[in-house]
Amino acid sequence: MAQNDLLILNEGNKPTFRRGDYTAILDLTIATPNLRDRVVRWEVLDKENLSDHAYIYFEVSKVEMGPTGRNPTKAEGTSKNRTINSGVPQGSVLGPTLWNVMYDELLGIQQPPGVTLIGFADDIALVVVERGETQLMNKANDALQRISTWMSGKGLQLAPEKTEAALLTTKRKIGNVQFQIQGVTVRPKKAVKYLGVWLDTKLTFAEHIKRTIQKAEKTTAALARLMPNVGGATCIQTTAAIQCDTFTSPIRCPCVAQRGWRNSGSPPIELMIQERWEKYTGVNANTAKENLMRSWEEKWNNSTNGRWTYRLIPNIRAWIDRKYGETDYYLTQALAGHGCFKKYLYDMARSDTSACPYCGDEDTAEHTLFHCPHWNDKRAEYAEVARKPFTVENMMRDLTSGEEETWERTYQTIRSIIERKGRDENR
Ligand SMILES: [Zn+2]
Repeated sequence: MAQNDLLILNEGNKPTFRRGDYTAILDLTIATPNLRDRVVRWEVLDKENLSDHAYIYFEVSKVEMGPTGRNPTKAEGTSKNRTINSGVPQGSVLGPTLWNVMYDELLGIQQPPGVTLIGFADDIALVVVERGETQLMNKANDALQRISTWMSGKGLQLAPEKTEAALLTTKRKIGNVQFQIQGVTVRPKKAVKYLGVWLDTKLTFAEHIKRTIQKAEKTTAALARLMPNVGGATCIQTTAAIQCDTFTSPIRCPCVAQRGWRNSGSPPIELMIQERWEKYTGVNANTAKENLMRSWEEKWNNSTNGRWTYRLIPNIRAWIDRKYGETDYYLTQALAGHGCFKKYLYDMARSDTSACPYCGDEDTAEHTLFHCPHWNDKRAEYAEVARKPFTVENMMRDLTSGEEETWERTYQTIRSIIERKGRDENR
C-alpha cells in the first residue's frame, strides 16, 4: 500500500464485518493522499443491510477539508433553480441522478422500528423484522401505507401487481400471512428474485441454484442447435467446453472448433494473462512469448489430461509452428479424442456403453482411426496413395509436414471416417 502511495481511511476500531460472534475489520477504504483530505465523516453504520458487512459511510467534499480547514467556496459561474415537473427521461445521463435525488427522500421517511428500506435504482426492498406473524403483517402494512402515501404525494404510483413478498424464517409452520398494498392482497411466495438473486424462505439458495441450472441448460440447448453435433441435440459440447477449460491442449475441442473455425489451439488462459502482464511491465514481446511457450510446454508435459492428444502432439512447438493446415470440426474430434467416440460419450454420461457400434471393442479415437475393422477400406485408400500404412506416427508426420498435398491426404482420411461415424451415430 505504502509502495503505491495509498492510505487507509478507516477510523476507530468498530468492526465492519460480523458473522455470529466473530467480528473483524475487513473492509478498508483506500485513497490517494490527494483524496484523503477530502474524505470526511468516515464511519461504520449500524443500519441493517442483510449482509455480514456493515455499510461504510463517508462524504467526499469538493475541496480539501484537511488541516487548513477551508470552507467550500462558491462554484464558478451562476446557477438557477428550476422546478422539475415531469418524469425522468429514460436513458438520459442525468436521469439516474435525478431519480436518486428524488427517491432519497423515500428512503428517509419515518418508518416503524425494525423496518428498513433498501433502494436500488427504482427497485425498493422493504425489510420488516418481527417475531409474530400478526405483528409482522401489521408492521409491514403500516410501512407499505407510508410508502404508498409518499408515492402518491409525488404523483408516483406503486405497482401492486409487480410487488412480491417472501418470508425469511426458520419456522417450520407459517400461518396465513398476507400484505395489503393499495387494496391489493400480496401473499408471500416461496422465493422472490431480488437484484438477480432468488431469495428463498430458508435462505438455502436452492431455488437460485435450480434457476441458474435451468438457464444454463437452455443456453446449452441453444448452443447445441447452432453446431453440427456428435450426439444429437444434446449438451455434450458444453460439457466438453468445460473440460477443455482445464485442458492445456494445443488442440481445441470440437465443441468450439466448428467448420471453418481457424485456430490451432490457445494456451491456457492463466499463461496468456501472465504474458500480457509481462509485456505490461516492460518485458520484450518476444521474450514474453518465449516465456509463454516454455510454461505451456511444461504444463503440457506434466498434464494428466488429454493424454491421447499428448501422444499425438508431444511437441507443441512443431504443431503450432507447422507451415500448412488448419484444424476444423472433424480434425479436432480426432486429435482431442472428444467427439463421436463411445468411450468419450460414455465418460460424459451421454451414452450407456463405451463399446464400438461396429465391432464391440472399446471405442476411442485411437480405436476408430487405427484399429476398428469397419474403417479398413479408408485406411487402405490412404496406404495406397501415401505408400505407407495409416499409423499415429505417419498421420502426425503428414499433419506437421508443412506440405499441402501431404496434409490433405491425411486430413481427408480422418474426415471421411469421423464424418461418416458422426452421421451413423446421429441416425
Ligand atoms: Zn470398432
